[in-house]
Amino acid sequence: MAPKQNSKTKETNKESALEQAISKAVGRAGGVKTAAKGTAKKAAGKPEQRKPAAEKKEGKTLKITDKTATGTAGKRTKTPAEKRENKPAEKRRGKPATVKETVLAAAEAAGKAAERGGKKGKSKAKSAPAGAKLRIIPLGGLGEIGKNLTVYEYEKDIIVVDCGMGFPDDEMYGVDVVIPDISYLEENAARIRGIFLTHGHEDHIGAIPYVLRKINPPIYATRLTAGLIKIKLEEHRLLKQAQIHTVEAGMTIQAGAFSVEFIHINHSIADAVAFAITSPVGTVIHTGDFKIDVTPVTGAMADLARLGQLGNEGVLALLPDSTNVEKPGHSESESKVGARFDELFKDCDKRIIVTTFASNVDRIQQIINYAAKYGRKVGITGRSMENIMRVSTELGYMKVPEDVLVSMDRIKSVPRNKTVIITTGSQGEEMSALYRMAFSEHKQVDIDAGDRVIISASAIPGNELTITKVIDELFAKGAEVIYNRIANLHVSGHACREDLKMMIALTKPKFFIPLHGETRMLHQHAHLAKEMGVDPANIVVSGIGHVIELTADSIRENGEVPAGRILVDGSGIGEVGSVVLHDRKHLADEGMIVVIMTMSGEDGTMVSAPEIITRGFVYLKESEDLMEEMRRVVHESIVSCENQRITDWSTIKSKVKSNLSGYLYKNTRRSPMILPVIIEV
Ligand SMILES: [Zn+2]
Ligand SMILES: [Zn+2]
Repeated sequence: MAPKQNSKTKETNKESALEQAISKAVGRAGGVKTAAKGTAKKAAGKPEQRKPAAEKKEGKTLKITDKTATGTAGKRTKTPAEKRENKPAEKRRGKPATVKETVLAAAEAAGKAAERGGKKGKSKAKSAPAGAKLRIIPLGGLGEIGKNLTVYEYEKDIIVVDCGMGFPDDEMYGVDVVIPDISYLEENAARIRGIFLTHGHEDHIGAIPYVLRKINPPIYATRLTAGLIKIKLEEHRLLKQAQIHTVEAGMTIQAGAFSVEFIHINHSIADAVAFAITSPVGTVIHTGDFKIDVTPVTGAMADLARLGQLGNEGVLALLPDSTNVEKPGHSESESKVGARFDELFKDCDKRIIVTTFASNVDRIQQIINYAAKYGRKVGITGRSMENIMRVSTELGYMKVPEDVLVSMDRIKSVPRNKTVIITTGSQGEEMSALYRMAFSEHKQVDIDAGDRVIISASAIPGNELTITKVIDELFAKGAEVIYNRIANLHVSGHACREDLKMMIALTKPKFFIPLHGETRMLHQHAHLAKEMGVDPANIVVSGIGHVIELTADSIRENGEVPAGRILVDGSGIGEVGSVVLHDRKHLADEGMIVVIMTMSGEDGTMVSAPEIITRGFVYLKESEDLMEEMRRVVHESIVSCENQRITDWSTIKSKVKSNLSGYLYKNTRRSPMILPVIIEV
């Protein structure tokens, strides 16, 4: 629902929305009628605008629910070969000495499995009718980090992989969430057979509550991912209408012409999967975020054998994660971080406060393990951290030794050097628990020299400043802060170059479409594929909204569908249009001037001298002269209107506005937002 006003209505809306607010304030104070009132009612004021929009959405969702409820229940099948393949995963994990050995073992297993599987892969896909095409349309995650969403389309059937949100940049004042434009999916809602989710990170599931207000297809996800979605939908009161199906790695879901196989891979959250998506055109591998961890903290190593088997059977296209393509080597194992915790917990006589990404269940598990090892009690603080603890322990992804957890209310009764607090705020997010601790706003925790604060995360690009601010504040309070830049306290969840090469080597794709990355990363990844022998003509570096058409022996971009960013405000309901955003930026950059003119309702003459209020523009005490000049400009504008017998208030207001803005720009080179308000007496 992108704003589609022309510039004229934009201007009107902008003005009247703010005027309305000001008038209200002024009106309340003085009990007077304002000139702005008449237009304000139909104007797009922020709170007024949201409600009808939300109602509209609700209505739509209901309609679509009815539609999909009949047609598209997914079938889960697990072929004997898959069952066979799945079992040895635990065994295979064993104790592989090196990555290389592991890969060799995996490749060997893949070869054997391929022999065993025989023609299984080919029998699954009926051969495509002549001219049939697989259309792949990324609606997010290309040329950007975040809001991952990819559409797969074969004839009348559509499936969606991932449904993520992005994060606002500094220019988006007051915007909390960025989601992909899904108008293409709304238009084709009846054709969508399912949303398939690779893992539970926000950039892959975060847009679901917003998307489900518009379309409501069945959702397929592994257990932990499903658990995290349920919390999210509960918060948005959408859980009842959602159709969530839990799927295990190794299983295959039939969705229209597609069959989607869930393949276990490693990442910085448990229960992540890649998909092998088979349509009559062939099998496409969509990795989602992945890494290869040969010594994972929980669960098995990525199912490289299955990927290799698919490679031997013939993979039409690979759509891999490009996030870490700029990083050489292999990504490190999650277990490595544990050893660092051991060192930092051992012989420490302070209270320990650790922050990490709430979704990194394995990391949290390791913190708890070392806390238990050194006889410490653990308190959990921060909403997302509490949520993940609840879901992951309920579902068995986390094992907490008995009597280790204490509630934050009771934590003060435990000696400080026997305490570990696990908290949110690894990105320095305002309002997060760590932020509140640093700025003395946390109810249960006061930071002082008796604290060792461990920040077990790297800054997501764009967050460096906020996190350093928190680190500085913690140091200033006397705490010892150990952070990733000076100590190895974090490993990435994304495959580095050598792992990415391995993925290409195993799957041997004919076509290559890099996903998940900013433009330069996608090009780097394309380059890497070329090095690995993929025909350059078979590689497409695409963009959001582009339609990529695949047949069994061709690939090309053909046309575009609407794509972009939808900005969502804090309430989680209202979408913020470019007008509101522009206002916020304007206010932040230049400040605001309100001109209050009291006019006679009878003859339209000025009753008293104009009043000027500024916010965020100049420091008043030092600019009395400027204020005086502004009052003069306003006064002259009104007098000139009177002389010209102009009595229409909106004309008077626009004269005042343009004269004042011209004066200010000439004398101060600034253009604050100017809001003329006429009070009728
Ligand atoms: Zn992820
Ligand atoms: Zn991601």
